Amino acid sequence: MERVDIKLIKQFEGLIKSSSKSIVLVPHMHADGDAMGSVLGLWRILKNAGLKVKVISPTKYPEFYHWMDGHEEVIIYSHHPKQSARALEESDLLICMDFNQLSRLGDMKALVESYPGKKVLVDHHPYPGTFTDLVISDISYSSTSELIFSILQSTEFAPYIDKNAATSFFTGIMTDTGSFDYSVSNPNTFEVVAQLTRMGIDQQNIHSKVYDNFSAERMKLMGFCLSNRMTVYPEYHAAAMYITLEDQKAFNFKTGDNEGFVNMPLSIKGVVFSALFTEKEKYIKVSFRSKGEFAVNEVCEKYFNGGGHRNASGGELYASMQETLLKFESILPEFEDKIKQSVK
Ligand code: 5GP
Ligand code: MN
Repeated sequence: MERVDIKLIKQFEGLIKSSSKSIVLVPHMHADGDAMGSVLGLWRILKNAGLKVKVISPTKYPEFYHWMDGHEEVIIYSHHPKQSARALEESDLLICMDFNQLSRLGDMKALVESYPGKKVLVDHHPYPGTFTDLVISDISYSSTSELIFSILQSTEFAPYIDKNAATSFFTGIMTDTGSFDYSVSNPNTFEVVAQLTRMGIDQQNIHSKVYDNFSAERMKLMGFCLSNRMTVYPEYHAAAMYITLEDQKAFNFKTGDNEGFVNMPLSIKGVVFSALFTEKEKYIKVSFRSKGEFAVNEVCEKYFNGGGHRNASGGELYASMQETLLKFESILPEFEDKIKQSVK
């Protein structure tokens, strides 16, 4: 059932086995469940195999992933740049997971770019960059977690996959598919989940730890945004929501508190394109979701300095919130026909 070229898998296995120092695993900045799931799952397996392995995350990540196995040992580059640089110096293999452009590393980009050891990319986004020695990239996988689990099955590391690693991988698959709502057209996803289930994972508990772990303030912010910060454009089957810095202050906003907001307008009848704009200190973070064929990563690439998947993409715009919202409204007519083709 393996879809990745076995030669690539053997090269990947060979690089891990020939590492004589330590191995460093790196997710993208503002890591999500799949970035942390794939990295921490692989971290546990390599550790179980007796290898030296460290995780360096470019930035901190939401608290609702802090329960995951290995979280305590993750080095946060933005908080500990020297410790991160030392960990890289002490390693000879760097594995980049769940992203495929150096820009997704933020301020850690230069360190990875100039890394003297071997570099590998394991990812499932379109258009992989060429900044690593080995590229394992396949968009037909729901998640990097599903991909790395599938790859490891054909290596001698398979026996080291335990319940902890399985739990991390399930977290990645669950979050990248919106709890099996999208990106699940390939049966392999469910075959992997079946294998993870046999390893004894507790799906209900994992779901609860990720999705039932928010503050009351976050829920109030959600209600506020739905009532006061959402515009529906019925003629374009689209909706946009925004959160200002002032809103964030009023509701004691923490990293990850806006998680899932962008999906909510998709439950409105007829809406197939949803946008969320979150104000940051220096820019506006853009998040897009769609249903069906309409490719939001193309919109992000063309107008919002980003990319991602067909139905889930993101980017950044160095503009004010008002300019961003006007820009969004101004581009809707261009995509009207494509959006309408997605309406079922
Ligand atoms: P989210 O809306 O959850 O932040 O991101 C959804 C997806 O869009 C991510 O899984 C990632 O593939 C992509 N994405 C988010 N932000 C960016 C960005 O700034 N640049 C690029 N290239 N992709 C992004
Ligand atoms: Mn992913």
